[in-house]
Amino acid sequence: MTTVAFIGIGNMGGPMAANLVRRGFDVVGVDVDEARGEAWATAHGARSATSLADVVAGCDAVVTMLPTGVEVRAVLTDVDVIAAAPHGLLAIDMSSADPVGTRELGGELGAHGIDLVDAPVSGGVPRAIEGTLAIMTGGSPEAVEKARPVLAAMGDRLFDVGGLGNGHAMKCLNNFVAGSAFVALCEAVRVGEEFGLDPDVMIDVMNVSTARCFNTDLVMKQHVISGQFASGFALGLLAKDVGIADGLARAMGRQTPVADLVTSLLAEARDELGPTVDHTRAYEVWSARTRD
Ligand code: NAD
Repeated sequence: MTTVAFIGIGNMGGPMAANLVRRGFDVVGVDVDEARGEAWATAHGARSATSLADVVAGCDAVVTMLPTGVEVRAVLTDVDVIAAAPHGLLAIDMSSADPVGTRELGGELGAHGIDLVDAPVSGGVPRAIEGTLAIMTGGSPEAVEKARPVLAAMGDRLFDVGGLGNGHAMKCLNNFVAGSAFVALCEAVRVGEEFGLDPDVMIDVMNVSTARCFNTDLVMKQHVISGQFASGFALGLLAKDVGIADGLARAMGRQTPVADLVTSLLAEARDELGPTVDHTRAYEVWSARTRD
């Protein structure tokens, strides 16, 4: 039995940590939201805490599933956590974070005997529940190997994509492509509807045609056209991911006009609606626009 502290019991972390419990890991759910942590622990027969410093001494691994790399850094470099962490502790960051920051953090944690692996995920809440996430790992081969049994409890497609930070680079580039497709689909549906096409039929056609993608399969009908707007992925998080990809392109000295545009469209919608609304609600902002 491996004892794992799982930090960030949110839309994704809740079901992911539950799958660890189901696979026999001894899991402590850690969340700043005490009520959320306790409700999760009660539902899954596990323990909960509000501070990693209180539980880290008894852990073999720490998993972070937090909004951004900023929270990940704050949690893992907390002086009380560093002081109590057992030597050789494995830290697995499954959040979608900035790859440049991840490389810096790995160096700092390594100096304290903590091995960092980045292992962001894709597949959204439905696949987090099923335990069938795609997981892209970055880190030393030894650390990635150590992380494998923990990751295999949450995902069934594991990709070792290279050194530390490469998982996070892969993830933001994936979300840049998915986010761009989402913006394009919103525009296409609005124009088609205005001309007289049925939006449901448009998605049926695309799903057996060349525009087919995750958004046509699982997002547009279910959350946009239906007006449900409940995919479980916040607008602020998607805007963050595409912004990270845009920043990475800049750091590589590349011109990426599509990433620049999608970053600004998502940021505008986030600023208008707030970061916590479901990202699918951005459709309402963009569809209200008309050409002068
Ligand atoms: P969320 O906001 O639902 O969950 C985040 C959780 O972290 C919350 O419960 C919050 O209380 C907790 N938290 C925040 N700061 C904390 C801290 N300092 N210490 C302890 N707990 C803290 O977010 P989510 O949708 O679960 O996303 C988490 C990460 O996964 C993000 O990086 C996101 O980009 C990524 N991601 C999300 C999805 C999705 O579909 N929602 C899919 C893939 C990846």
